[in-house]
Amino acid sequence: MSEENREREPMNPGDEVPPGTVYSGEDLCPECSGSGEKDGEECPNCGGTGKVTEPVGGA
Ligand SMILES: [Zn+2]
Repeated sequence: MSEENREREPMNPGDEVPPGTVYSGEDLCPECSGSGEKDGEECPNCGGTGKVTEPVGGA
């Protein structure tokens, strides 16, 4: 239960796995193409970061 104290970044809707997951990596958000904006507003898919966290490698 000691893992509970780890700091975590909030997940965005476009994140497929929680940040900090071992086999994960950041990729450009497909909704805003990495700009962080969509239709002139903060992209809801990536929370304005322009990046989403995805699993890397086979599972
Ligand atoms: Zn986005």
